[in-house]
Amino acid sequence: MSTQNNDSLSLAELEQTQNFIRRHIGPNAEQTQAMLSDIGAESIDALIDQIVPSDIRLADLPAIEESKTEVQALADLKKVASLNKVNETYIGLGYYGTLTPNVILRNVLENPGWYTAYTPYQPEIAQGRLESLLNFQQMCIDLTGLDLASASLLDEGTAAAEAMALAKRVSKNKKSNLFFISSDVYPQTIDLVKQRAEMFDFDIVVAPANEVVDHDVFGALLQYPSATGEITDISDLIAKVHEKKGIVAVAADIMSLVLLKAPGELGADAVIGSTQRFGVPMGYGGPHAAFFTTSEKFKRSLPGRIIGVSKDTRNNPALRMAMQTREQHIRREKANSNICTAQVLLANMAAFYAVYHGPKGLKIIAQRIHRFADILCLGTASKGLTALHANYFDTLTFNLSNKDEIVTRALAAGVNFRTDVEGQISISLDETTTRENVNTLFDILLGEGHGLDLAALDQQITDNGHSSIPATLQRESAILTHPVFNSYHSETEMLRYIKKLENKDLALNHSMISLGSCTMKLNATAQMIPVSWPEFANMHPFAPVDQAQGYKQMIDELGDWLVELTGYDNISMQPNSGAQGEYAGLIAIHKYHESRGDAHRNICLIPSSAHGTNPASAMMVGMKVVVVACDKSGNVDMADLKAKAEELADNLSCIMITYPSTHGVYETTIAEICNIVHEHGGQVYLDGANMNAQVGVTSPGLIGADVSHLNLHKTFAIPHGGGGPGMGPIGVKAHLAPFLPDHALINVNENTKGNGAVSAAPYGSAGILCISYLYVALLGKKGVTDATKYAITNANYLATKLSKHFPILYSDKNGRVAHECIVDLRPLKASSGITEVDIAKRLNDYGFHAPTMSFPVAGTFMIEPTESESKVELDRFIEAMVSIRDEVRKVESGEWTSEDNPLHNAPHTLADITAPWDRGYTIQEAVFPVPAAAANKFWPTVNRIDDVYGDRNLICSCPPVSSYED
Ligand SMILES: *Cc1c(COP(=O)(O)O)cnc(C)c1O
Repeated sequence: MSTQNNDSLSLAELEQTQNFIRRHIGPNAEQTQAMLSDIGAESIDALIDQIVPSDIRLADLPAIEESKTEVQALADLKKVASLNKVNETYIGLGYYGTLTPNVILRNVLENPGWYTAYTPYQPEIAQGRLESLLNFQQMCIDLTGLDLASASLLDEGTAAAEAMALAKRVSKNKKSNLFFISSDVYPQTIDLVKQRAEMFDFDIVVAPANEVVDHDVFGALLQYPSATGEITDISDLIAKVHEKKGIVAVAADIMSLVLLKAPGELGADAVIGSTQRFGVPMGYGGPHAAFFTTSEKFKRSLPGRIIGVSKDTRNNPALRMAMQTREQHIRREKANSNICTAQVLLANMAAFYAVYHGPKGLKIIAQRIHRFADILCLGTASKGLTALHANYFDTLTFNLSNKDEIVTRALAAGVNFRTDVEGQISISLDETTTRENVNTLFDILLGEGHGLDLAALDQQITDNGHSSIPATLQRESAILTHPVFNSYHSETEMLRYIKKLENKDLALNHSMISLGSCTMKLNATAQMIPVSWPEFANMHPFAPVDQAQGYKQMIDELGDWLVELTGYDNISMQPNSGAQGEYAGLIAIHKYHESRGDAHRNICLIPSSAHGTNPASAMMVGMKVVVVACDKSGNVDMADLKAKAEELADNLSCIMITYPSTHGVYETTIAEICNIVHEHGGQVYLDGANMNAQVGVTSPGLIGADVSHLNLHKTFAIPHGGGGPGMGPIGVKAHLAPFLPDHALINVNENTKGNGAVSAAPYGSAGILCISYLYVALLGKKGVTDATKYAITNANYLATKLSKHFPILYSDKNGRVAHECIVDLRPLKASSGITEVDIAKRLNDYGFHAPTMSFPVAGTFMIEPTESESKVELDRFIEAMVSIRDEVRKVESGEWTSEDNPLHNAPHTLADITAPWDRGYTIQEAVFPVPAAAANKFWPTVNRIDDVYGDRNLICSCPPVSSYED
């Protein structure tokens, strides 16, 4: 230990105290030494040399910048942000100005209790966000008029594509391969759905809505209100499609539905859209939650997760993910979709927005928007400028002979209209619109000196009424009648409701979440701060690019860094989740083959250990999945790979492989695997979810892969948000670059024009890219590399310590693991009947989230500590696991029976210990099994939840009023 007086330190050394690297990396120098000595390694570098195969090691640190201090990095990014020019925006097309209630901004979006949680796979410690997601579902059900909702999809465009896939699955018009898209659907949605259809081999026709009757379709997509703002009664069209056994999906604007007749009441089979304008900033395209509702009879086909009501062992109501959606992606090539990460944080924000405003507040918000639209419409009409449609909610479209002049005037006034249609502009008003704004709009459209008086126009509307919503399309059904939407309208009540839910959930601000493959590392506060800067938050994704120069610079710089760190040549920032990245990457591979006259190549090799999204994505691009075996050590069976690659060479498209493998080991044969596939004409898709074991040490490009997605919400510090948002950009080698995604409205890259999109917005959820940008800027070349090295060190320390008590399933020839390790719990089940589920729930009693359970091997835990956990926290976790092992021993020995023991009954709640206690173990043993658990007690709020009961009695909406009455 140093006894040095601070006075003797150099300035450079004193400045080191501001270095961010030591904030991000958990273990300090002393702890690191202690861990290395337990592991039996001389130094971190010596350990890494043993573990990472030498033929794939990078020689030098990556060529990115040095680390910056938090102050410097934020100041620099602020300068970049200020290059964005945030105009008054009326572009619409699914993105609107919104007023995020500050109580939600600070206590949800900016609160680690909400943003650092994981997908609620352990529902007993996730009842808060599950309740909020149930509110989200109820809100969607009420507004759309259908009876079943999912708990968020990625964006409106992909939700529409999912609706098409659902239509194909459930339509009784089996002979039709045709999907109809109304030409007044948002252009980015049309583009995206066409792309999906091409991959599924569906035929598409895009035509005016009323022409749907001329076609024999399995499904149709209509927009309500239309892209140009018109409201029409679509019930006849829907009925006509139904006559031919087709399915109708309606893309709807959630705010308009507050006033409009619900699409469900008009006959729609599925309703999709975005909840962005319910309090979620635009963020240059995301993140925000899409909604998807359908009829109960299609419940088995609903994409994404559904939250359902079940009961716990005390018969109390308890929530959890319902049906197959618990692990949708585990269904592999039989999955309905490849959605894994969704948009939980943003769905929660939208749900809270509805809870805060309630039905009356929402109605006033929608009416105010609509009133301004009426005023604008009446005022312009009185001066001879008549809007295209007489029936609208918030969007007016004008055909202009002097469009250029008007648009120039608008831009000079700092105003953006929708301008992508020839000779036309559209103006979408929103919650942020003021009287002053409308006066400015009059000035722009009519020229100054028009003499219109807003108050007089308003009076005219009040006096005469304005039938801009036809009587037959006005909403009559009540919305949001459940108590939760009618109870928390003061800020005090709202604050406490948010806090009450937060307290039920275990997130990273309580303890480590060692979910293997999910990389739950520090989401540093400094990285989160710019997310709510107005320069980033309030930018519309289709704003003219010259206004988005700050975004452009940030995206380009981050892109350059990621290219360097992956060893690829190009990157696309469009995919907004890992699974979407897989989809985009496989499309690139498909188009590449096609460009070489090899369109027939459609076999995708996938090792049996792969994540479920891999086969699900392959299915979505029409590939045929062939599973490659793994050997006893978890490695790809090379003989099987060779045989299959050779046998299927004529049609081989690619292999999808995760590296280091999901077994937690660096396969030494990875370069050879790439070679074999290449030799047989295939491409290598390397699933980048495990990049946390590669950055700075090796890279997919060096290894020989052709394309990878990065989960920025794993490796690059975007928080998981309780199940989203995420970002899944893909890196590619140069030969695949021409096949990256494009966008219908924004030119993302000259060389990818016409390729079609995979997300609704050109850069996916661009609003959270600042997190990854700052992650790299703060850590710099040394820090990002240290992160990898410490992630490996921490995993090996855990593996070393736990191996004395549990078998570690896989390790390399030196007995080492990569950045995660698999603990085998199957022997305990054999000896005691205690299952991996019992142990997972028991960890809750110790204040921990369970590791990844039964993936990739049933009956195991996959543990990934990440570099951000200190030795103190790792030791606490080890103590819990060892103590649990001792508890199992008491069941093995018969001291505790198989029914009456703290594992079988876990997790324990306050209800347990306040009820008469008649168990064969003490209350102390139940809830304070070790001092550390008592010192930082986390109380699960429900007992173990009955999944089977919940699935048999599927309830996916809020409990009725009556249920609150006892
Ligand atoms: C997380 C993960 C994915 C999917 O990423 P999402 O962002 O959840 O869609 C794919 N593969 C692996 C190995 C993963 O761990």
